[in-house]
Amino acid sequence: MLVVMKKGSTPDELSGVIGKITQSGLAGHISQGVERTVIGVVGQTYPELRDMLELLPGVDEVIPISKPYKLSSREFQHEDTKIKVGDIIIGGEELVIIAGPCAVETEKQVLDTARAVKAAGANILRGGAFKPSTSPYQFRGLGKEGLEILALARAETGLPLITEVLTPHDVDLVAKYADILQIGARNMQNFTLLDEVGKVKKPVMLKRGMSATIQEWLLSAEYILSQGNRQVMLCERGIRTFETYTRNTLDVSAIPVVKKLSHLPIIADPSHGTGKWYLVAPLALASVAAGADGLMIEVHPNPDQALKDGAQSLTFESFEQLMAQLAPLASSVQRKLPAKPGDKIDQ
Ligand code: PEP
Ligand code: MN
Repeated sequence: MLVVMKKGSTPDELSGVIGKITQSGLAGHISQGVERTVIGVVGQTYPELRDMLELLPGVDEVIPISKPYKLSSREFQHEDTKIKVGDIIIGGEELVIIAGPCAVETEKQVLDTARAVKAAGANILRGGAFKPSTSPYQFRGLGKEGLEILALARAETGLPLITEVLTPHDVDLVAKYADILQIGARNMQNFTLLDEVGKVKKPVMLKRGMSATIQEWLLSAEYILSQGNRQVMLCERGIRTFETYTRNTLDVSAIPVVKKLSHLPIIADPSHGTGKWYLVAPLALASVAAGADGLMIEVHPNPDQALKDGAQSLTFESFEQLMAQLAPLASSVQRKLPAKPGDKIDQ
């Protein structure tokens, strides 16, 4: 249920309402919008509560939310969530371009890739140190050593880092290195992990589970938000369908659906979404046209020698070509690409 405060209601009135909600064994989350202040009441609400809250000073109206997800809904927060990572704003006019290898393999591989993607216009570096794998015999990542390599690349290039955290136990360690924590598709419903990343003060990117509905995905986001971490972005990375030609089917339609239902930013990952390098560019363009706030693209110095996901990884050259293709498309949908090193900055 949502408690909408009157225009001009006082901070005391707001804390009075929160107090009443807490006394009733529920939690109140505040959304301070430009137009109005709303309190999202979460927990097992009951009809009498509505009448009681409506009588409190400063309350304009109490609206039940029929959807099971509350804090991730547009009803709770009308304005788009914008997440700040250094100078970057995710969810604003400027697209965010996240690029880098699937897995951290060597210092040279990561540093070379970081330099190349930065020169081509990426503004966040990706790379997995803890890798989820369908088979236990595949490369499972360098762990802490991989995080240290990523930190070196950030120190040299200034690119913030996103990397996956696989277990609740590793959250503190990964949060020490990463600027954004990634929850992978296979962990979208690992509820103890979601609770843990909900307690850290770092942005989280939640990938869609490969068989998850949009509602289940938003409910997973709700786990993180309800722990107090409001810096959540979503990532559409393809779902499993009957089609086997592609690794997954990138659900481009999920992008405008999420924009309608939720205020959270959404990133598209056409690399895992297709599994084939030559499909990455067309689906990246389609995702931006559909309203994605950014892209996550796998790039490797030698895709044919990659320890993971080589078939879907772009070379430095093909990544540069994609960035060139994106520029006119972005402006046609009123978006901007991040400034490239050496670009003239408008005064
Ligand atoms: C990844 O981004 O490297 C990854 C493992 O993706 P997903 O969780 O979407 O499979
Ligand atoms: Mn990968």
